[in-house]
Amino acid sequence: MPRRTKIVATLGPATDDLAVMDELVAAGVDVVRLNLSHDTHARHRERAERIRDRAWAAGRQVGLLADLQGPKIRIGRFAEGAVELRPGDGFSVDSACPLDRGDRTCVGTTYTELALDVARGDTLLLDDGAIELWVEEVSGSRVRCKVVVGGRLSNNKGINKKGGGLSAPALTDKDIEDIRFAAEIQADYVAVSFVRSADDVRQAREVFQAAGGTGGIVAKIERAEALTTIDEIIHAADVVMIARGDLGVEIGDAELPAVQKAIIHRARELNSVVITATQMMQSMIESPIPTRAEVFDVANAVLDGTDAVMLSAETSVGRYPAKVVEAMHRICEEAEKQTAVRRSAHRIDSVFGRVDEAIAMATMYTANHLGVKAIAALTETGSTVKWMSRISSGIPIYALTRHVATRRKVTIFRGAYPVSFDVASTDIHEVNREVVEELLRRGTVRNGDLVIITKGDRSGVEGQTNIMKIMRVGEHALLTED
Ligand code: PGA
Ligand code: MN
Repeated sequence: MPRRTKIVATLGPATDDLAVMDELVAAGVDVVRLNLSHDTHARHRERAERIRDRAWAAGRQVGLLADLQGPKIRIGRFAEGAVELRPGDGFSVDSACPLDRGDRTCVGTTYTELALDVARGDTLLLDDGAIELWVEEVSGSRVRCKVVVGGRLSNNKGINKKGGGLSAPALTDKDIEDIRFAAEIQADYVAVSFVRSADDVRQAREVFQAAGGTGGIVAKIERAEALTTIDEIIHAADVVMIARGDLGVEIGDAELPAVQKAIIHRARELNSVVITATQMMQSMIESPIPTRAEVFDVANAVLDGTDAVMLSAETSVGRYPAKVVEAMHRICEEAEKQTAVRRSAHRIDSVFGRVDEAIAMATMYTANHLGVKAIAALTETGSTVKWMSRISSGIPIYALTRHVATRRKVTIFRGAYPVSFDVASTDIHEVNREVVEELLRRGTVRNGDLVIITKGDRSGVEGQTNIMKIMRVGEHALLTED
């Protein structure tokens, strides 16, 4: 049985070597992420081309996710490169302070609205929460604080406000440029950072589509206020990412586990897709094996029902990029053996909105209860496959399509696998036979196994799936004769 949970790995300097890319592909990476906070477009383009080329050579399909930097709010630089802050010290963040000449009393920021977004009593968290400042007074552009938790503070570290409420719009000018670039390299997904609301997602989609982009939009949930309209955001996006790094700073790390479970549950309930991200295998940046806690974290995300687990620095700048994917693969596979993750009461009480959705649900119900070995969905856009993959099961769902974009899109859906397939015949029995032959060739089924095929009367037309066909392998060869 192939692994169902998908692995997203960030490309970076540590993966640029062709041999390393081959190892990543061999280790089973499903989606690669370009982190547009770093590096040039030229470098990212080269990475995208190379990894697609290497995947192609291995007969595999990898999705490409372009992750926007977003309005990460940062302090400026220090004259000395860094300062040491002690609890009780006074320290100001001030957009009027020269950007490159901070000192122990004050540092600049490019975010000129900071003083408008905070008030006395707020907490500012710097460097992913390592340093905590209490806002004493705001005057003009100056935010005067008292250091609560001190430490070494160096150049360009991020600023978060505890509880959320920094109003910077989600798409910066750089992001708009980057979205156009993502369209150019035919990214399968664009991830929008620091989404505040569904509007941010819609705006990103507009820019992406206007630039000719055809992929999906990932909403990164990393601001406290995004949680208050999570349903709208899930509806507006194709995928949501639980961006635990920034989110944990804003809402508090202890709050993360419950929020992760709630978002995964809600996304699946609303027929959407979800990635669990950040620090999943953090220690493997330096170490060849994960900690026990990391093993549990990955396994728990699988048990929660996530579609994909993500690697950031672990692969992009880590010492063991392929080893970390291999380790994640092992942990996911083992976790998926637990029976709880193969059962589903998903949408048992809901009304289906469309015929193709109803076919998808009927297929999964039947497959789960009849001991079907594989599902083959002839699909144009992949929607049927997405609906099917919202249902927990241990049955692989093959997305058979002639569209490369659809094959790449499904790389992130749990339990769904892309297959290049062109319907050559218009004869319905002949098509069924070809499908079963394809599954046989892949070694996923054997004579005597039951399979389900879904398709539309008119192949090649979107949203037309209206047939569910149950077949027994072996008997399929006779089909052309009736
Ligand atoms: P980032 O987003 O890695 O782009 O910051 C993920 C996160 O915040 O967890
Ligand atoms: Mn982030």
